[in-house]
Amino acid sequence: MNSPHISAPQPTLERGDSENWHRGLAEAVRDPDHLLDLLELDDRLREPAHRAASQFPLLVPHSYLARIERGNPHDPLLRQVLPLGAELQVHPGFSSDAVADAAAHRAPGLLQKYTGRALLITTGACAVHCRYCFRRDYPYGDEPRRIEEWQPALDTLEADSSIHEIILSGGDPLMLTDARLADLLNRLESIGHLRRLRIHTRLPIVLPQRVSVELLQMLTTLRLTPIMVLHANHAQELQHDCAQAVNRIVRSGITTLNQAVLLKGINDNVSAQLDLCERLVDLGVIPYYLHQLDRVSGAAHFEVDEELGRRMIDELRARLPGYAVPQYVREVPGAECKIPL
Ligand SMILES: *Cc1c(COP(=O)(O)O)cnc(C)c1O
Ligand code: SF4
Repeated sequence: MNSPHISAPQPTLERGDSENWHRGLAEAVRDPDHLLDLLELDDRLREPAHRAASQFPLLVPHSYLARIERGNPHDPLLRQVLPLGAELQVHPGFSSDAVADAAAHRAPGLLQKYTGRALLITTGACAVHCRYCFRRDYPYGDEPRRIEEWQPALDTLEADSSIHEIILSGGDPLMLTDARLADLLNRLESIGHLRRLRIHTRLPIVLPQRVSVELLQMLTTLRLTPIMVLHANHAQELQHDCAQAVNRIVRSGITTLNQAVLLKGINDNVSAQLDLCERLVDLGVIPYYLHQLDRVSGAAHFEVDEELGRRMIDELRARLPGYAVPQYVREVPGAECKIPL
């Protein structure tokens, strides 16, 4: 990943292609044997992969698989999606509500931890299952599903004029169909004191077909100012169809940021972080946060020592323009913002 070259804007998707992403999702790999066969990996990975996937299922779209090196069990993209036996080990200090979401509930589907912005859990669905996910045990079944069930959350937002920014999160909010999303956005737009719409999504990275002409049109014709926060952890993710999708978002005029998670064996070295930050800014994306791993059960083997993280950030500061260095933060339950480390 040392070519910073950005290809010219690709021929745009034709209208009607927006349903492509449903096909991409339907065809995603869900069976550990299938994954290991496609990537020509060692048979010894099979049994643990099945055991871990029985707790948190494997899910990875073909577009993402195409960016993984065949036969390399250490590939940084593979490591984000391959279920491992280590997930089943119990570690003290790692729990199922690591970020105290339960305490921040204001209405079904509505979380508020910080002043001025609130977050909607729009869906529990994702197009990929990241093995380190801090919401792998989130009780999504309790959140609204049908559009009417959003009313209490919308009423709460309407009644609180201190909230200026609404964040769509999940799961992945871009898993909603365009029709569902349009309906929700309409309702949010009618709340006069909301000024900004922020979408936290990994779909442009894992299922780039989702970034359709129709979606971008919907987001760029709102009254609300749109901001998209992508979730890429490694420069190798930002190639091919993914780079093109990111390019389309940026060129549509949406402010585009990225948050990454610091992950052992994936991006816990200076050169991986440098490549990621440079690749992002070359694509027009500002590195926003580098998150210290939330201590969720099953993810302990991804944890990186904070001291190492701090040294890496110092090194990045010495080598990159200021805007290309993310804030290294951790989420502390009850704190009034993400805490800089
Ligand atoms: C992380 C988070 C936000 C966003 O925080 P910013 O610092 O504004 O990016 C907002 N609400 C909740 C509940 C969060 O967990
Ligand atoms: S896309 Fe986000 S919410 Fe979904 S599994 Fe990955 S980290 Fe978790």
